[in-house]
Amino acid sequence: MRYVIIGASAAGINAAKTLRETDSECEIVLISKDENVYSRCMLHLYISGERNLNSLSFIENDFFDKNRIIWLKGLSVMQINDTLKSLELSNNQTLSYDKLLIASGASAFIPPVKNLREATNVFPLRNIEDAISIAKRYKYGDNVVIIGGGLVGIDAAVGLIHKSASIHLVEMANRILPLQLDKTASSKYENLLIKNNVKLYLNSSAKEVILNEKGEAAALALSDGTEISCDLIIVAAGVRPNIDFIKDTQIKTDRGILIDNTCKTNIKDIFSAGDVTALSPIWPVAARQGKCAALNMLGKEATCDDNFAYLNSMNFLGLESVSIGTIEAPDSTYTTDIYETKNVYKKIIHKDGIIYGALLQGDISYCGILTNLIKNKTNISHINKSIFKLNSADF
Ligand SMILES: Cc1cc2nc3c(=O)[nH]c(=O)nc-3n(C[C@H](O)[C@H](O)[C@H](O)COP(=O)(O)OP(=O)(O)OC[C@H]3O[C@@H](n4cnc5c(N)ncnc54)[C@H](O)[C@@H]3O)c2cc1C
Repeated sequence: MRYVIIGASAAGINAAKTLRETDSECEIVLISKDENVYSRCMLHLYISGERNLNSLSFIENDFFDKNRIIWLKGLSVMQINDTLKSLELSNNQTLSYDKLLIASGASAFIPPVKNLREATNVFPLRNIEDAISIAKRYKYGDNVVIIGGGLVGIDAAVGLIHKSASIHLVEMANRILPLQLDKTASSKYENLLIKNNVKLYLNSSAKEVILNEKGEAAALALSDGTEISCDLIIVAAGVRPNIDFIKDTQIKTDRGILIDNTCKTNIKDIFSAGDVTALSPIWPVAARQGKCAALNMLGKEATCDDNFAYLNSMNFLGLESVSIGTIEAPDSTYTTDIYETKNVYKKIIHKDGIIYGALLQGDISYCGILTNLIKNKTNISHINKSIFKLNSADF
């Protein structure tokens, strides 16, 4: 039985590991454009010079040999033939599969801002090659503009802060980290960034890149007329699933590849996991889906359907936060409880005894129990104590 996996990152590597742990005999072939296995979550540490390519890896050096996995690195899958059950690779080779896992992740989205794609000093931050280009191009004291104030944009800012860059961060929403945090929690990070000389442009959108005679971005013009001069632009404006190579198949897609809660697609023997499904583009979900897909490829039963209760964790400039589930009450039938001191902020959103979301900042020690309560939809209405002080003995 030949199991083929497309992608050598959170989902693909966890799937390959699970396949080998569960079946010592099967043939496992893993194909990736990536020539290295590394954690994208740590790319900012490469930019800041705190880690090199080797120390970004999340597998042992002998992972492929030890697990008898054939790794075709630096190769792209160009097309899938789901009738013949084969793949066309960028070296013109055809590879057949018995079961296939598509874990091809996502690519950075470059928004349609005038000259943004043309300028030679504009980089996304998705792959190690992007981090290498940024680190090579950046010079001490450069003016850097970051478009996007989500996790990746803040990662990029933090990666350059310690190099004393002058950083300008442009975010369309009224706060940074709008998908992960509410206004109160975001403002803590905003203050930390401002203290570290990062200039924030909230409620702002990029309108045009002004090019110099060498074709480089010399400034970014915002919709309100502000012009920010720059030596480098980093684009952190979201991602799009890597699905070009499935266009000739019958695999159903929505924003990403559609899967059921066992990671099966609508096509027999084809599974999918990770950011390419666009369900919840974070590392722990990709890893969990990769394991779940592998078990189902082997005919075992496994499900992963709790993506809603995903946990976003972050630690920027020494301040830790996690958010789980919804971060704002969907309507007035929900109750929001808040606990706040100078350094700690906690918020829990609940209705009829069920917790739907939580946000913890400054002290995240309560996160394990909250994650379980949210995931399991545990009813807490019979417990007569503060919602911020529940423990496993209460259930
Ligand atoms: C800068 C940055 C910071 C992040 N920080 C966090 C964080 O703090 N916490 C968190 O939870 N998540 C974070 N993430 C998100 C996290 O990295 C992703 O959710 C995770 O990498 C998804 O893993 P994946 O396996 O689905 O796909 P990817 O990591 O996108 O990997 C896709 C793989 O598929 C391969 N591939 C793609 N197309 C093809 C093709 N046609 N042929 C062959 N191979 C192909 C690629 O080479 C790669 O090996 C961050 C991401 C970035 C970029």
